[in-house]
Amino acid sequence: MSPKRRQQPVAWDFSTEPEFAEQLAWMREVVRDELIPLETLELTPHQLRHVLAPVQDEARKRGLWAAHLPPELGGEGFGQVKLGLMHEILGQTAYGPVAFGNNAPDSGNAELIAIGIKTTGREDQRTQWLEPLLAGEIRSAFSMTEPGAGADPTLLSTMAVRDGDEWVINGHKWFTSNGSVADVLVVMAVTNPDVHPYQGSSMILVPAKAPGVDIVRDVSTMEDPVEHFGKFGAHSEVIYRDVRVPYGNLVGNEGDGFRLAQQRLGPGRIHHCMRWLGQSQRAFDMLCERAVSRFTHGSYLAEKQTVQNWVADSYAEMTAARLMTLQAAWKMDQDGAQAARVEIAMIKFYGAQVLFNVIDRAIQVHGSLGFSTDMPLEHMYRAARAARIYDGPDEVHRVTVARQLLKRYSRAEVPTEHVPTRRAAARDKFASLLDDIALEG
Ligand SMILES: Cc1cc2nc3c(=O)[nH]c(=O)nc-3n(C[C@H](O)[C@H](O)[C@H](O)COP(=O)(O)OP(=O)(O)OC[C@H]3O[C@@H](n4cnc5c(N)ncnc54)[C@H](O)[C@@H]3O)c2cc1C
Repeated sequence: MSPKRRQQPVAWDFSTEPEFAEQLAWMREVVRDELIPLETLELTPHQLRHVLAPVQDEARKRGLWAAHLPPELGGEGFGQVKLGLMHEILGQTAYGPVAFGNNAPDSGNAELIAIGIKTTGREDQRTQWLEPLLAGEIRSAFSMTEPGAGADPTLLSTMAVRDGDEWVINGHKWFTSNGSVADVLVVMAVTNPDVHPYQGSSMILVPAKAPGVDIVRDVSTMEDPVEHFGKFGAHSEVIYRDVRVPYGNLVGNEGDGFRLAQQRLGPGRIHHCMRWLGQSQRAFDMLCERAVSRFTHGSYLAEKQTVQNWVADSYAEMTAARLMTLQAAWKMDQDGAQAARVEIAMIKFYGAQVLFNVIDRAIQVHGSLGFSTDMPLEHMYRAARAARIYDGPDEVHRVTVARQLLKRYSRAEVPTEHVPTRRAAARDKFASLLDDIALEG
């Protein structure tokens, strides 16, 4: 190969530009020294706001606040790869995304509203909802799932009927995360039952205080089994009874619901997966520290082959999930969410399982200590279980991957690789060459 050829730039590059690497290093420090220690304290929302404020100010100064939106929409315009790398660090603790203005579901909802404004030019939504959301002054929730319609949102029964300049909304939702602390709810409703739900569903902004919005309860879950109401991060059951909001509260155009949901969920899944990797890394660090520290049956756990397998398998799975996720992010940056559909679906179920596996092994290596609340692992495990369900259950993503991949194949009466058939074809193809050799011989 000539020296000139060797100097050609490589097409695949896994490095991080030094300026951004420095920002990531700072984030790592903040998460380790300022945010993770807060987990051990029982803070009221007021106290939390107060202790997070200095980090939030610094994040703003460094241009890292609400980095998910393009600059013209009030964000920093980071692509998915950069955002992914940020989320990997911030996802180590639930306080990370809050401290950097990109916590779910607010980040995704802000994106939705921003896309809607871009489509329709409804600038009043910018001042009323988008700017306060980006500034962290208000909270939002995404209200799509219903007791009777989850994995298949074409079954949604919540209706929004136009009455003059208003929408009248009736329906029953649950698992609306942050519903009981939200100022505004993004409600997915059927606005035209006469066409396919893909064209007949819309998203509408509903102020939480609007008459008829009934936040029935926060559903107790495996992650948080204690009954309470109005807690950040809880998942609410909500009934909408003749709720009236202005027609202009529509996000995007009528019938845009599914298209918007796809746009919202694509980047959201990349961020989820990278946050899961942050959690996995924490669990992995605990696993390894325990392995080299615990002496039993004549040696340290680190010297037992089973534990070595857990270390090696965990690291391999995490590395695979990380590369898959960053590749999906890169593809999204290059070609858009639709082009990266298979990659995004793949990381959703693969990443969720890796998270679960690593935490499970970390608990096992700690024995009873891992099962106890003296370690954060049991809580991480309970939270991780939901990752296989929310944002579409893993099975649905597997269906997407398999369907898309199978489209690349067509039926074959005889398998393409059938050796006798290939042999006959090869004999035909190379007949004259083989004949020449035979003659020479
Ligand atoms: C912690 C958490 C937070 C959430 N936050 C929100 C939120 O903020 N807003 C919101 O709108 N929703 C939210 N959800 C709801 C979430 O999106 C739904 O749980 C999810 O879409 C699955 O719907 P479902 O629970 O009704 O399950 P179902 O639709 O009843 O599905 C049950 C099971 O059936 C199987 N299944 C379903 N379809 C298929 C298929 N095609 N092939 C094979 N198997 C299949 C899967 O195993 C699945 O787990 C949240 C859920 C959780 C757990």
